[in-house]
Amino acid sequence: MKFLCVECDRQMQFEERRLPGDGTLAAAFRCPTCGRVVALLTNPMETQLVASLGVKIGGTTLPPQPMEMVRGMVTTGKENAFDEAGERGEGKGPRWSSEAQERLARVPNFVRGMVKRIYLDYAKDRGIAEITPAVMDTARTELGLEGM
Ligand SMILES: [Zn+2]
Repeated sequence: MKFLCVECDRQMQFEERRLPGDGTLAAAFRCPTCGRVVALLTNPMETQLVASLGVKIGGTTLPPQPMEMVRGMVTTGKENAFDEAGERGEGKGPRWSSEAQERLARVPNFVRGMVKRIYLDYAKDRGIAEITPAVMDTARTELGLEGM
């Protein structure tokens, strides 16, 4: 188990481990850059589970890194998770007029890629070479996407 400080993009370092005796386990991880601390608490059953898996908290026997995976997803979300699909095949697909690009820029970041994809598919399906605000309006009405 590893924790990553999302702000600093640093792996947090294991700091302390307490086994109070009632079966609960507490482990703290500190970010070496900003000093942020996260603590891991497990109940007796979870402690058993972790122990049975041979996991040494703070040691070298470590399971996959769920936090890094989550972080990866979050990062991808920030950077337009759907954009990649939208850019694929660019060059032969419909163009975006500058007005349409401006309008697209006002779409919230996290859905922009998806919205872009929808308009691109719409334009491709209809053989539209350039996406303009007028095309976007028509697409919205036809596809029932009011508000996008
Ligand atoms: Zn940090």
